Amino acid sequence: MDIEDFRKAGYDAVDRICDYYLSLRDRPVVAEVEPAYLRKTLPDHAPEQGEPWADIANDYSSLIVPGLTHWQHPSFFAYFPTAATFEGMLGDFLASSTANPGFNWLASPACTELESVVMDWAAKMFGLDPIFYNEGEIGGGVIQTTASDSALTAIVAARSRYMTLHPSTSMESLVIYVTSQTHSFGKKAGLVLGLKVRALPVDETARRGDGLDATTLRAAVEEDRAAGHMPFVLVATVGTTTSGLIDCVKELGALLKEDYPDIWLHVDAAWAGCALSCPEYRERAQLEGINLYADSLCINFHKWGLINFDCSALWVRERARLIDALDITPEYLRTKHGDAGTVIEFRNWHLSLGRRFRSLKIWFVLRSYGVSGFRAYIRRCIACCDVFASHIRETSGFELVAPPSFSLTLFRILPNGPADEHYINMLNRAFFDALLARHDLLLTQTELGGTFCVRFSVGSARTTVDDIEKAWTVVKDIAKDVRLRFSI
Ligand code: PLP
Repeated sequence: MDIEDFRKAGYDAVDRICDYYLSLRDRPVVAEVEPAYLRKTLPDHAPEQGEPWADIANDYSSLIVPGLTHWQHPSFFAYFPTAATFEGMLGDFLASSTANPGFNWLASPACTELESVVMDWAAKMFGLDPIFYNEGEIGGGVIQTTASDSALTAIVAARSRYMTLHPSTSMESLVIYVTSQTHSFGKKAGLVLGLKVRALPVDETARRGDGLDATTLRAAVEEDRAAGHMPFVLVATVGTTTSGLIDCVKELGALLKEDYPDIWLHVDAAWAGCALSCPEYRERAQLEGINLYADSLCINFHKWGLINFDCSALWVRERARLIDALDITPEYLRTKHGDAGTVIEFRNWHLSLGRRFRSLKIWFVLRSYGVSGFRAYIRRCIACCDVFASHIRETSGFELVAPPSFSLTLFRILPNGPADEHYINMLNRAFFDALLARHDLLLTQTELGGTFCVRFSVGSARTTVDDIEKAWTVVKDIAKDVRLRFSI
């Protein structure tokens, strides 16, 4: 493809994207294909001779798009939606066009400098303490691929700090603390690093609305230390995947600082962290505890932050801890400015060397939306979720299984007459199966303290109150049918 071919193909691709978005509302949310549908259609080896671009582009539209689940669909209420924006797409497009893995300042000064600036913009938008700003040169923010990478990076830094403080500690005695509701990345970090992981219990029913508390943490640390195990990092969550549960970061952080200062506090706010942009949600989202005590904090822009996957923001209180843990500088990576310490070398702030130019999409989105536009989107999602939660609350035969958390609601249906929990779970599994059979909306399921329930999560950049009302009508009708089928 030469430049003029690219110009034509590029315009055509933009047309396809626009048509896709114009038709999104009328598409099924869930792909209507069977497993191996593509293998049966595509040749089993790459073509010997190159093919015309028009054929390739048409195959994208006719073969690939029908096999996609449409995460940007306004009726996508599953998992945690990923809100993509055209500004974010353009950022990715332009970043790909120059394909510069700006691992250190010299490799592409604009990549490092823009990342340093936009991570400070984001820190300010979220109300973070200046200690986390890059401009302060003590802490700082860096873009990672995912929250799992962010957590792994933080845990590596935590281990390094712990081993510096206690050099005679054996690796076998180290323990990563997570909770029973931490995302599975906690266990995966243990697998990758070959370290023990202990999940501290939290009230899984979440009816109190609070997660891990200091009493449970203290008891665990004392028990482990007495047995020769050394907890060195605690992963607390603001907004768990299952139910949006929030750990008491201030209480946990105060305990760690006072009595166990060698234990690192990582706060995973991968989803709910974006609510920190709105002053009215900062208390609930644990801003004070984060600012006072978190050693590291992760917020995924690619979940609830209007920025196309992937884009995970990690802030650390002391950048030196990351660098101590991860700086390996062979001769071929040395630079004049790096040696002098006058620039940030982001390659020492994460696991890989090469890195994508992700700050461009943050810059585009924050400039185009403005902080007020970003906040308006967060508030709209929460307001939409409140509408749904109100229907659940006010309609007999429905029940909230946990207090709604920001833009996430967990609910279940109740039978017409008295029934035990086993029966209610069966009823709800049938209800969820019936919901899944619909392709015009998508919700996901979970289990909380033995209670099977349905998650309703709002986050698409295009969801409106009308979409919520449409979803509620579907949910209500399906519940009625399922109850009828189950009535004895
Ligand atoms: N933390 C929370 C609370 C999540 O909900 C998720 C994913 O849904 C993750 C972490 C993992 O995110 P990632 O896919 O960016 O690793």
